Amino acid sequence: MLIIWGKTHVRKNIGYAADFCPICRGPQVFKLIRVGLASHVYYITSGDGELVSHDRECQQCKTLLNANPDGYLTLSKKKQSLAELMKTTFPSLPEVYKDRLDLEEKVMKTPALLTPQERAIMIRTPFHLLSPLVEMRIGQTHLDTGISLALLGSFFLVTIVPVLLTKILPFDEAIIFLACAIIALLVIGWQLLTAGSRYVKRRIIPVLGPNLKPLRPTESELKSALAELKADQKKMATRLKIADLQKYF
Ligand SMILES: [Zn+2]
Repeated sequence: MLIIWGKTHVRKNIGYAADFCPICRGPQVFKLIRVGLASHVYYITSGDGELVSHDRECQQCKTLLNANPDGYLTLSKKKQSLAELMKTTFPSLPEVYKDRLDLEEKVMKTPALLTPQERAIMIRTPFHLLSPLVEMRIGQTHLDTGISLALLGSFFLVTIVPVLLTKILPFDEAIIFLACAIIALLVIGWQLLTAGSRYVKRRIIPVLGPNLKPLRPTESELKSALAELKADQKKMATRLKIADLQKYF
């Protein structure tokens, strides 16, 4: 009998806190997540596993960032309003992030006054912050709408469609079935290959677009941000279409 075992990541929600979100450009409510590495048998784990890291997930834009739970006064078990969480978990946020909040105000109100260095950093940073989401997504198996529809269509392509076609086409039943099966495999393969691009368009562009909107980056600035990701061999570099992003500016 084949026993599937090994180590797997276990993600556990440990509470909520207020913190700064560089994608939303301001304070937001975050969910704190403990990431552990636990032994599994048939992907069933016991316990939270050995601590690997902590993540914080912005509840507005769903971006995942590194977290240090010790940096908060406390964590709230319940998801509360931003004002409430700022009071209880991170009352010094305005002082701690003062320089960044001032810079964000400049981005929103007077972007023309940004120095070239500030502008370059503010354009490149969100690409690097959102890239890990794409890496994580592509590294996992997900049945999105495209793949689900391809599987459903393929089921009909190898069951009902060959039966109907044999009645109207002058070919052997086996050839028709083989042709339908090849088409089904090609459709599924195409949907699997383009799943990453669909994820970027559905999940990353709607977050990155509004983030960059105040800066109105030029095509060359966007291309150089993507070139940096490409140099780091990040999957987002080849799956993000600049034209999709420019619709927001
Ligand atoms: Zn956010």
